[in-house]
Amino acid sequence: APKIGVLALQGAVAEHERALRSSGAEVRKVRRPAELDDLDGLVVPGGESTAMARLAAPVQLMPAIRRRLDEGMAVFGTCAGLILAADTVSDAEALVGFDRIGGLGVVVRRNAYGSQLHSFEDDLEVTGLDSPLPAVFIRAPVIEDVTSPRVEVLAEAGGRPVAVRQGRILAASFHPELTPDFRLHKLFTELSAQ
Ligand code: GLN
Repeated sequence: APKIGVLALQGAVAEHERALRSSGAEVRKVRRPAELDDLDGLVVPGGESTAMARLAAPVQLMPAIRRRLDEGMAVFGTCAGLILAADTVSDAEALVGFDRIGGLGVVVRRNAYGSQLHSFEDDLEVTGLDSPLPAVFIRAPVIEDVTSPRVEVLAEAGGRPVAVRQGRILAASFHPELTPDFRLHKLFTELSAQ
């Protein structure tokens, strides 16, 4: 089984662990660079990107994740995880001075869909899935622009990309771990195993 970590500094960790286990992965929490060494994939969960970037800083976990990504580890960034994986954040004031992962050729806006009160659900047509995927958006980042021709848009909502793939990076602006439909986790587990 592929070994997949879940970045466990803050956010929706347990829900991702459950979704990955039910997709056939061997799962572990990651809090330190050494815990990335033998992983095939890493989920960077939703939560608060600024909190995760701050908690990662003392052990330089974000640059360590980037190094492992460049060596071939797969990364699945959801919501705050998408913000951390994006090459560019257009409202990055609260992230200035903190490393992120980067590598995904998109521009995201952190709080574009507004506050917690502006959370919503949608059923998405996703490339590679044969029926709509229920998706929960919570203070979701918006993908404002795609800057790399290697980025494949897998799903859109309201005319904007909400799920993308670039090589071994998968990212979604919603929370796939909060619905009982784990097909994106299954897709990521397969991607990690390749
Ligand atoms: N807007 C949040 C952030 O900046 C992300 C929200 C979420 O992950 N549910 O991290």
